[in-house]
Amino acid sequence: MENVYDVIIIGGGPAGLSAGLYAARGKMSTLILEKEKAGGQIVTTSEVANYPGSMENATGPILIDRMVEQCKEFGAEFEKDTINEIKVDGTIKTLVGEKTSYKTKSIIIASGANPRLAGVPGEKELSGKGVSYCATCDADFFTDLEVFVIGGGDSAVEEAMFLTKFARKVTIVHRRDELRAAKSIQEKAFNNSKIEFMWDTVIEEIKGDGIVESAIFRNKKTGEVTEYTADEEDGTFGIFVFIGYIPATKMFEGVIKMDETGYIITDDNMKTNIPGVFAAGDCRVKSLRQVITAAADGAIAATQAEKYIENELEN
Ligand SMILES: Cc1cc2nc3c(=O)[nH]c(=O)nc-3n(C[C@H](O)[C@H](O)[C@H](O)COP(=O)(O)OP(=O)(O)OC[C@H]3O[C@@H](n4cnc5c(N)ncnc54)[C@H](O)[C@@H]3O)c2cc1C
Repeated sequence: MENVYDVIIIGGGPAGLSAGLYAARGKMSTLILEKEKAGGQIVTTSEVANYPGSMENATGPILIDRMVEQCKEFGAEFEKDTINEIKVDGTIKTLVGEKTSYKTKSIIIASGANPRLAGVPGEKELSGKGVSYCATCDADFFTDLEVFVIGGGDSAVEEAMFLTKFARKVTIVHRRDELRAAKSIQEKAFNNSKIEFMWDTVIEEIKGDGIVESAIFRNKKTGEVTEYTADEEDGTFGIFVFIGYIPATKMFEGVIKMDETGYIITDDNMKTNIPGVFAAGDCRVKSLRQVITAAADGAIAATQAEKYIENELEN
């Protein structure tokens, strides 16, 4: 007979791994499905300074290796597969992967999100080496340095203001001649003496040998191209790209309730609109997307999945 798991977790990032730890430790048969190598977004980071208790050398990969180990210690299974569809009509739910299908009593969606990239040469190579997508995570590394913020929406301007607490100067680079952010936020930015603006401008290339050293900008109206090079004493500067996040939830459209931007709607117990289907981490509607909140969501989702099986399925 086909194996029916108590819980299958889609995604092996911090939310999925934390869910896996709690589920397996709670003696549920647990499968974690991950389409790539386990770890999610945080594996691209060389320093995770804001996860409580993390040591000085706590890189994303070190933190994730330990999370994976812990899951395995308690008996969670891992499979590499991409889930393209879930069928949630009956009490036994089916996950359709690229390799095969899986049966389970409950599902935890922990498929995360990905920052929208600027898509310019040098960006990927220098990500985590001057290029960042998260001020909460990385602002501290740019204390007293110069920083460029790419974007003009609410999050770009709010993150720019946050960065002024650390950086010497913050330049907002926006492709239009006015910001898209709410007027109240704009006003605060215009009144902030550390913030400058480059209007009608796009970033075209990021350069550096292992660390950001210069960037090329183009004025869309005049066509003028300028290259900004790091101050000699600084040796580097920051480029924060805030042009949106894309939740990895497209495969659940029409089944799981989401907001207009594709984030899954849950209650405080990580329950979605479908009984027995939970969502945790960056893929759901929430106010702070970090490792600590992803891990907390995962723990809640797993304990709720256990309650669901005990109270709603087995009675
Ligand atoms: C560059 C960078 C630096 C960061 N630095 C910090 C930091 O210093 N501190 C901090 O707290 N936070 C940091 N963050 C944020 C943090 O990484 C995220 O909040 C956290 O990883 C969210 O965890 P998650 O498990 O919800 O999602 P993710 O980490 O996005 O993991 C989701 C996983 O699901 C998998 N997946 C997606 N779709 C499928 C599918 N269909 N089938 C199977 N698997 C699937 C993905 O491959 C991925 O591994 C950083 C983020 C970035 C991008």
